[in-house]
Amino acid sequence: MQDIRWNTFWVLLFISFLSLIVWGFKSLEVASLFFILCLSIYLLSHVYWIYRLNKWLKNPNLSTIPDGSGIWEEIFAILYREYRKQKRSKSELTTTLGRFMTAAEAIPDGIVALNQNNEIEWCNKPSEKMLGINLSKDINQPIKYLLRETNFTEYLNSNIYNDSLKLISWRNTSRSFEILLVPFGASQKLLICRDIAQIEKNDSIKRDFIANVSHELKTPLTVIVGFLETLSDMKNEFNEKTYSYLQMMLEQSDRMNKLVEDLLQLSSIESNAAPAEKKEIDMLHLFKNLKKDSDLISGKLHTINMSIKKNISLLGYEKEIYSAFVNLVSNAIRYTEKGGSINVIWDMKNQNPYFEVQDSGIGIDQKLIPRLTERFYRINSDRGRNTGGTGLGLSIVKHVCIRHQAQIEITSQVGKGSQFKIIFPQERLSLKK
Ligand code: ADP
Repeated sequence: MQDIRWNTFWVLLFISFLSLIVWGFKSLEVASLFFILCLSIYLLSHVYWIYRLNKWLKNPNLSTIPDGSGIWEEIFAILYREYRKQKRSKSELTTTLGRFMTAAEAIPDGIVALNQNNEIEWCNKPSEKMLGINLSKDINQPIKYLLRETNFTEYLNSNIYNDSLKLISWRNTSRSFEILLVPFGASQKLLICRDIAQIEKNDSIKRDFIANVSHELKTPLTVIVGFLETLSDMKNEFNEKTYSYLQMMLEQSDRMNKLVEDLLQLSSIESNAAPAEKKEIDMLHLFKNLKKDSDLISGKLHTINMSIKKNISLLGYEKEIYSAFVNLVSNAIRYTEKGGSINVIWDMKNQNPYFEVQDSGIGIDQKLIPRLTERFYRINSDRGRNTGGTGLGLSIVKHVCIRHQAQIEITSQVGKGSQFKIIFPQERLSLKK
């Protein structure tokens, strides 16, 4: 582009030159008048093009851009090129955005974009259907006003979104959703919502099937165990070999009985997704029973110390809590050699009540710890079988924890022992008066 300063300089030089010629032919006054006149025409032409530019800027359009003259011709040409470039990238952006929106609408999961204040910026059609959002009305509304579930508000405020949240629709309780918050950009969030009603239904069919089969197996098993026990009391009627077979049958049917009982218990806990009741549990009484059961399991072959360090009660469902505690103590006993020691503790840390079982047993390899609460998972199936395990104990513990919003912490060292800790939330704490 021509430099505007040079352009002005040459024009002024030319006008001055012409004025000098006029001065030569006429007088200084005429030359001055001529100079002023030329300068005014020059200025007026600039004012005119500024006016045209201003007018065009108010309603910019490629087809109406002025042609300009002199330096302005070039200015308008540049403006034309830049405007065309900008229009092209804008249309490319609009196309990409359109494609993205179409793709987001095609996703069967609900997607809601939230701003820094957790207000709705945008959402797709599936989310409108699932969560009852109406984008045209609810835009800029805080999401917590639309999803008025306490669980969701706690999840939103927690700022920890590693796990998803299961939510039962408040409009239609037969529908349930899985909600995941994904932070992005500067404190913005994407809320991803999935209808899991069908998955839940399949799970419930599976659970019912297991519960029904276990229930049906229970009666014949009780009869078999009963007869086997009667036969085993008649030791003198059998020779040694037959009697040993009888003992093996009794052992295996006992195992089967335990398995059926654990399966029934697990499916009953699992089928109840609602939080457990908040009834005050007398820990002193619970620990007395726990001690009795522990001695029975151990056969007094271990040193078992039970200690209630804080006189606090738990708010929960006693039957399930007892079952989880017994499972942990039973594991500690079964995976600790005779003569080993087991500490069972009830205490509180940072207003969180906790139950802990420490043993001096065989321990667990660090990398296997995350799998322990899986159904039927055993580190070594032979080791589990020998100790009379079913592989369901820690699964039961996990589900009891879920129902009580408790966390389970496992630490262990092979050959040294393990610690299993159930940490309850503050809401489940009851301080004794
Ligand atoms: P099981 O009925 O086989 O004991 P669980 O679900 O209770 O099943 O435990 C799963 C596995 O975790 C067990 O098979 C065992 O290998 C391991 N385990 C559980 N508790 C302990 C413990 N206190 N010490 C060592 N290993 C343990």
